[in-house]
Amino acid sequence: MDKVTRALILTVVAFFLFAGVAFGIETISLNQLIETAKVMDGKTVVVQGEAISEALERGNNAWVNINDGTNAIGIWLNREDANKIKVFGDYLNIGDKVKVTGVFNRACVEHGGDMDIHATSIEVVENGYPVKEKVPSQKIAIGIIFVVVTLMVTGFYFKIMKKPTS
Ligand SMILES: [Zn+2]
Repeated sequence: MDKVTRALILTVVAFFLFAGVAFGIETISLNQLIETAKVMDGKTVVVQGEAISEALERGNNAWVNINDGTNAIGIWLNREDANKIKVFGDYLNIGDKVKVTGVFNRACVEHGGDMDIHATSIEVVENGYPVKEKVPSQKIAIGIIFVVVTLMVTGFYFKIMKKPTS
């Protein structure tokens, strides 16, 4: 195989790899998407992340925020798709993990110039679940606060007690 043929093959392979990412065949991390926002603007992308907080309904559509651990972004989707998401992440729950295919907008003209993704399809790839009992750590925190307050009050008390003698 001569150099020209090899270079040609490499170019073709590189092109298809790039096209794969550009046309949303592979999942892109949100951080990577935001970092390459200029290039990715208007392109169809596939992202995956945990649905967080809650769905905000807007007529036949809804906003859902997803967080993939690298960053978070608002997803604009139809209500039917939004209803597929049952569990949203908060301090009591790990939200559903959703795979979103949609058009990435660096500065969406429809939505006040914010960065978003207009979903064409979504899929729940992993169901959310409640996080383990939070009470023990809260109890520990309350315990620590109680001790600190007690020490402060005691210190204050002794200061007052010392005053008349000084
Ligand atoms: Zn938008």
